[in-house]
Amino acid sequence: MNNNQDKLEIVKNTQKAVEQMKNDDIEQSPDHAYETFQCQCCGQEKIVAGSLFYDGFVLCNECVLLAEVGFALKKFDNINTLLDSMEDKRFDNLYSNIFNQQKSGNENS
Ligand SMILES: [Zn+2]
Repeated sequence: MNNNQDKLEIVKNTQKAVEQMKNDDIEQSPDHAYETFQCQCCGQEKIVAGSLFYDGFVLCNECVLLAEVGFALKKFDNINTLLDSMEDKRFDNLYSNIFNQQKSGNENS
């Protein structure tokens, strides 16, 4: 578990598993391929497919990958650690979303 080759293998396997999860989700609920939500980790609008709940937070498929890789490599053992590390980026995105909504009015709601 301590050399880079093993870590690479873990990352690759996790990527595959998370990708597979998204594909299964789309297969079971095709709507999830285009329905979006705001990810509570990266703060971006993401498709529902492949999203997961962690301790009450909904993470998009990309953040699920970050979380799973982090857990697998023992970078952190709590989802809050990831959320904290994403905080600056998350707020940037939240704010730019607010500004975009103001600019475009309510045409999307
Ligand atoms: Zn995300």
